[in-house]
Amino acid sequence: MAASGLRLRAEKLFEMLAVLGRLSRCQSTSQAFAEVLRLPKQRLRKLLYPLQEVERYLAPDSRKDLHLRIFNPSPEDIARAESVFTATEHNRIDYVSSAVRIDHAPDLLRPEVCFIGRSNVGKSSLIKALFSLAPDVEVRISKTPGHTKKMNFFKVGKHFTVVDMPGYGYRAPEDFADMVETYLKERSNLKRTFLLVDSVVGIQKTDNIAIEMCEEFALPYVIVLTKIDKSSKGHLLKQVLEIQKFVNTKTQGCFPQLFAVSAVTFSGIHLLRCFIANITGNLYLTN
Ligand code: GDP
Repeated sequence: MAASGLRLRAEKLFEMLAVLGRLSRCQSTSQAFAEVLRLPKQRLRKLLYPLQEVERYLAPDSRKDLHLRIFNPSPEDIARAESVFTATEHNRIDYVSSAVRIDHAPDLLRPEVCFIGRSNVGKSSLIKALFSLAPDVEVRISKTPGHTKKMNFFKVGKHFTVVDMPGYGYRAPEDFADMVETYLKERSNLKRTFLLVDSVVGIQKTDNIAIEMCEEFALPYVIVLTKIDKSSKGHLLKQVLEIQKFVNTKTQGCFPQLFAVSAVTFSGIHLLRCFIANITGNLYLTN
């Protein structure tokens, strides 16, 4: 009798410790973002809205064709999106499976977003950065020449699935185009395709092929400029203006607003998380 009472109390104690652990984990995440919000104004803007930060260097009349405020969440909305990307007991963020063929892809239970781009564009680094609040997620990288490249599926709680598509261009397997093309054409729960472009070199020939594919299938897609920490402000502005002009005049399905990220400084990562949470129906903006 006394032993069972003791066991019950011990169980209660373990339960309480687990709850405290979960609470402190939630708190430390929100505390981390609370610290971000305390950054000096200019550093905060650079981190949360990197393109609005460089836009300041343009004369007002050249700003009119940039569409940097179509998706313009408040820092508070961005903070709310962080919880969608935070792994907890109730929000499991995990690698699910890999597939070389669309019929091997997991079920279509949730909305899906996919990331495509040339090899070396910074795709794995970006996906790792997006999942930095889920440290157990392993973003698999298969870069060995000759190895079959696969589509990798990650689930973000019950919210949505993120798909890391094989990189195209240099050393891409011959059947790559078929795999990506079939996925893009047939995946009915695909909500948005994120097409990554290296901000240092801009749109390349192979990027154009991917853009044409998205246009041909009338997919909603978004251009994301990567590695923005590697470019000077002047170079980044030049690339942004060129790519924006291309989007404004030559595309139909591309979201008019460009996104820009650095997996090194984390600039633009929080905004991209917020955008993904929003377009998959997991975050309603308050403003
Ligand atoms: P992937 O082939 O598209 O998956 O590209 P990776 O993520 O493996 O990145 C290719 C190279 O670019 C690696 O050497 C990365 O360290 C580097 N890289 C990726 N993202 C960034 C970034 O935001 N800034 C900088 N400076 N380097 C990056």
